[in-house]
Amino acid sequence: MEEKKPKKKTPKKKIPRHAMPEQAPEDRARNFDEVPYGYTEALAIAEASRCIQCKKPKCIGGCPVGVDIPAFLGLIRDGEFAEAARRLKQDTALPAVCGRVCPQEEQCEAECVLGVKQEPVAIGRLERFAADYEREMGTMAIPDKEPPTGKRVAIVGSGPSGLTVAGDLIVQGHEVTIFEALQEPGGVLMYGIPQFRLPKEIVRAEVDVLRQLGVEFVLDYVVGRNATIRELLDEEGYDAVFVGSGAGLPTFMNIEGENLIGVYSANEYLTRANLMKAYLFPEYDTPPIRRHRIAVVGGGNVAMDSARTALRLGAEVTIVYRRSREQMPCREEEVHHAEEEGVQFKLLHNPIRIIGDEQHRVVGLECVQMELGEPDASGRRRPVAIDGSEAIFDFDTVVVAIGNKPNPLIPHTTPDLEMTEWGTVVTNPDTMETSIPGVFAGGDIVSGAATVILAMGQGRIAARAISARLRGEEYPPPSATEADATEAETSTESS
Ligand code: FAD
Ligand code: SF4
Repeated sequence: MEEKKPKKKTPKKKIPRHAMPEQAPEDRARNFDEVPYGYTEALAIAEASRCIQCKKPKCIGGCPVGVDIPAFLGLIRDGEFAEAARRLKQDTALPAVCGRVCPQEEQCEAECVLGVKQEPVAIGRLERFAADYEREMGTMAIPDKEPPTGKRVAIVGSGPSGLTVAGDLIVQGHEVTIFEALQEPGGVLMYGIPQFRLPKEIVRAEVDVLRQLGVEFVLDYVVGRNATIRELLDEEGYDAVFVGSGAGLPTFMNIEGENLIGVYSANEYLTRANLMKAYLFPEYDTPPIRRHRIAVVGGGNVAMDSARTALRLGAEVTIVYRRSREQMPCREEEVHHAEEEGVQFKLLHNPIRIIGDEQHRVVGLECVQMELGEPDASGRRRPVAIDGSEAIFDFDTVVVAIGNKPNPLIPHTTPDLEMTEWGTVVTNPDTMETSIPGVFAGGDIVSGAATVILAMGQGRIAARAISARLRGEEYPPPSATEADATEAETSTESS
């Protein structure tokens, strides 16, 4: 009888990356539930086992906050899921958020050695798995706090930068108050990124941990209107201020017809749908903007989120973008999902006029066709209009998603705050301190529209410097990976 050879084990490097189960496109295009279901425990262990635990892990260098990736992957591989979440939280305040919305393919996963010959380890999906496990099992740890210092810090804005600063300072014994203009904390995580990409329960759970730690949230409070930064320092008795007010001012195209009924900024469109829950109307009071043929102008994450939201509200949706598909600044995953769900794309088309009827309602969009010319300052080939190619397309709504700028309220009400010509706040990148001693800033108000993880990285640097200042110590130098976080980098821009 022939002797049976022992079965050969597939080398780790050859095991293919594990897909994440997700809703079928035809189902999810009609609901607001999250698209991927996430890894099961078995899939997470299998995927984490692909990591070869490099001695000099390049993936860590690709993460703007320097998460110890092999450490948490090793814990998942060993079935220590709650411990993996705790390990993650030593480096990142919002792993369940980052695991969902970070552009990992350009960061940690782009550096993973496995990516040289095949697909990198699915670091983002595993980050999400560990954080979800901790939350769903009710094992979210409330960190220990140092004894009270008696110092008080005011934070303007509750986006990822403000939440990170709050979390870092409260455990160091400082009193922290977050002033937020909107009715619910979370910034873009709450009002911008849609439910089907980032369920709001996740953001609320993170905010709850901060509340349990003692962070005070003052909502519906606009700094610059209710009190200025100077008043917070001189009259309200705060010892330091962190400004994380983001980049929420929409940019428009400045073309004819932008004042017509049926033209929206992506911010307004998404805020109605997300924060004000228009998609649950009439259970909630805000009626959704339900139209039939919607053009979304832009090619970034914001455009993709608007288009996929409109689709779920029952519209026929077309993305109008002046460059090619390869040049879209949004994540590849987002375009792929949008295509699968039925969003149409009019690429290399630039809007030049919005057309209205006698009631001033949108009835069409005139576009000129573009071709790619020589590379521009961004290194991408410049789109050039083709003479005589103008054409009018039928649309009853136009959503403009071509980028956001910092809101000018804080700069206008804070005279000594040094600003750049782009309306962003000037900071010392090692401390995130502004031109006003004791006033720090981070996130999109400093970088321009950028990413969640960069906002968090800058928040972490600021928190360390604020704490040192409050204790009368020297400012500590940032780590190498954190220093990268202070470099402005735009991923959500749409032009
Ligand atoms: P924000 O999140 O902008 O929050 C600022 C907060 O400050 C807001 O809540 C605002 O109400 C409040 N505020 C402003 N002014 C005042 C004031 N005067 N007084 C009191 N409060 C004030 N990034 C990614 O990494 N991945 C993605 O997939 C992604 N998708 C995105 C999708 C959309 C639709 C948008 C708009 C952005 C997206 N981004 C994404 C970008 C990312 O969300 C931002 O870079 C990040 O949220 C910036 O964080 P922040 O802390 O600077 O401020
Ligand atoms: Fe694991 Fe890839 Fe990081 Fe190496 S580079 S430690 S294989 S995740």
